This record gives sequence, C-alpha cells and structure tokens, in this order.
Amino acid sequence: MKFFLILCSAVCLAQTPAELLNSPTVKAALDFARRHEPDAIEQQIRLCEIPAPPFKEEQRGREVKRLFEELGLQNAFIDKAGNVVGTRPGKSRTPNLVLSAHLDTVFPEGTDVKVTRNGSVLKGPGIADDCRGLAVLLATIRALNEAKVETPGTITFVADVGEEGLGDLRGMKQLFGETLKRRIDKFVSIDGTGSAIVNTGVGSLRYRVTFKGPGGHSYGAFGMANPIQAMGRAIAKIDAFDVPASPKTTFNVGRVGGGTSVNAIPFEAWMEVDLRSVDPVALKALDTKFQAAVAESVEEENRRWNNHGAVRASAELAGIRPAGQTPSGSAIVQTALAVARALQWNESLREGSTDSNVPMDLGIPAITIGGGGTGAGAHSLDETFDTTESWRGTQRAILLAVSLAR
Ligand SMILES: [Zn+2]
Repeated sequence: MKFFLILCSAVCLAQTPAELLNSPTVKAALDFARRHEPDAIEQQIRLCEIPAPPFKEEQRGREVKRLFEELGLQNAFIDKAGNVVGTRPGKSRTPNLVLSAHLDTVFPEGTDVKVTRNGSVLKGPGIADDCRGLAVLLATIRALNEAKVETPGTITFVADVGEEGLGDLRGMKQLFGETLKRRIDKFVSIDGTGSAIVNTGVGSLRYRVTFKGPGGHSYGAFGMANPIQAMGRAIAKIDAFDVPASPKTTFNVGRVGGGTSVNAIPFEAWMEVDLRSVDPVALKALDTKFQAAVAESVEEENRRWNNHGAVRASAELAGIRPAGQTPSGSAIVQTALAVARALQWNESLREGSTDSNVPMDLGIPAITIGGGGTGAGAHSLDETFDTTESWRGTQRAILLAVSLAR
C-alpha cells in the first residue's frame, strides 16, 4: 500500500502539461476561465482606472490586496516596497511558485486613466502593460478556486511595484532580497500581452552625467572650457562605440540639457545615457568604455583651453537592471514550451527587460509571459488592448501555474 502511494505520487509529480490538460479539475479551471473571460476583462478595466504612477502604486495595490483576500488567498499583505503578496497553499510548502504582474505604469500623476471601448478594443494608459497581467493573475486564482484545483506545491501571487523605468525593479529587489528571500523556487511574471515567453533578460545601466564649469560671457570670457562642448565630445565618442550585434549590445544618449543663454558659456550640461546588453560581460565592457569616454572628453576639453576655467564631469547611476538568462534547456522553459504546445500555441523564446531580470541574476528559474490578446502602443496614451481570444492567455497562465507548482 505504502509502495503504491509512493508510486502514485511519483507519477502524479511527473505529469506533463498535456496530461494535466486531461485532469478533470484542470480542465474545469480552463473551461471556467474561458467562460468567465468577460469578467476578467471587466476587472482589467476597473484596475486600470485606478492610477498607479511610478512610485505611487499604493491605491491600486490596496485594491489588489482586497481582491486577494476576497479570493481567499492566505496571509495577504503589502510589503515594505509596496508589493502585494498572497498565498494559495498547496499540499506542500515547496516548491513555491511566484506568479506576478506589475502594478505600476509609466504615466505621471494626473494622467487621465479612463478606459474606452470600441468593439473588441480597449484603449487607456496601461490597459495592456500591465493591467492585462493583473487581470490574468486574478482570473487564475479564481479559476483554480472555482474548479477546486489542488497543487502539490504552493503558488504565491504577487502584484509588484517599480517595474517600469526609474522604478529600477525595486519591487523585485525587495521581494527576492528580503520579503520572500530564499523562499522562491520558481518565478513567472505575466507582463503585457500576446503569447511570448521571455527567458533572456536584457540588462541595462542608466546614467545621468553632469558636466560643470565656472561659465561666463561668450565673448568676454572666451577661452574658457565649455561644459556643453565637453559633453559634445563625449557624445561623439559614445556614438563611435563598436558594439557586438551578438550578444546584442546597445547604447543611447536619450536626453540632454543645460546652458542658460546663447551668449553665455554654460556652467552646466547634462545627458541621460542608456546602455544595454543581454550579456553581463558585454555590458560591463560597454560600461568601462562609457566611463573612459566621459573622462577623456573632459580631459580633451580642458587641454584644448589650457585648463582655463576647467570642466569636470560626474556620472550618476540612475538605474541598474542585471542581465541574465534562464537556459532554454531548463525545466521551467521546457515546461512553458510544453504548455504552449498543449494549447496549440506555436511559441519561440525571446529576450526582454522585465521583472524576471532579478531572479535570473540570482540563478532562480524565471520567465516572463504575455497575458494573451493583442496589445499596441505600450507606454503611450493611445495604448490599446484587443480582447479577441484573450481567454487563451488566461488559460495558458493557469496551465503553466499548475504545471510548475509541483
Ligand atoms: Zn510591463
């Protein structure tokens, strides 16, 4: 008898996504999700009409916590950074799968977040990125509950902060560094739309570089080193960087500013620079070249004007996302591909810069998936989400969660 039980549990654990598709409870959960997709879409709209500007996700976070509690998650709480966390216990505490979506948007306070609807198309800031992820997260909990799906492992649901821009992945850094430190075995982020599976995390470094000098009259003080001209030298050097096409490595001077008047030698100039690579070594090499370019440009400018009114520069790191990868042969990636196949999705692996960068850097199995449907215009006020067959995205998240929580 004991032998039989052990055998059964071994067999149960080895269930593939295709086999799980035939389990009556899993099937019921997927059917429920399809039937109730209109509810998920309503939820998506409601959540999206609660503003969640960068660093100000509290209001939307509180509502998600309320929904987590209403759906019966255990120990729902908001951590120090503002992440909303709730647990759906399995037969065992481990493995603990974290399924997450991000609360924050790129839109500043005061942005009109009203969602409008035209046939199957919803329009509103953040409606796809990442209100869709939040809707799928909640629909997954609901479907698992309604169908009474029991998982061998535990699923922890997280609505996190700080995914976008200068948020600098602070939600993930808090979650993995403190809130659930060493208690996360697998991680899946639902971010945006479509069917994508992201297993390569593009790393990035963002700098704000400030060039300063005494400044003076353009005619009267002529002969003085010029911060804007020094910065021009730096930009020309950056522009000439030779970067590998593979691993893809990129640079961008995205914003510049400074100076007070056309007839004044400026006392200050600044630029914002974004450096990226899928490979940590290539990113490090690019960073070294960038630092050298800034130092050399200052040196050249000062030499050119015989150190008269010398210029100096300081580069402040405004954001850091580690690069990383979950190998294509790893169990989590293979399971995600098997889930896609089981649901007749023809899917290949992609790269991206998402919440998964943090666990990838820590060597914790992590992927990011799309939430189904079709998105357009992400990060713009004209962002749209086409709900056509979006239930397929919800079903994929459910089957993936059940396949990984074991
Ligand atoms: Zn996103």
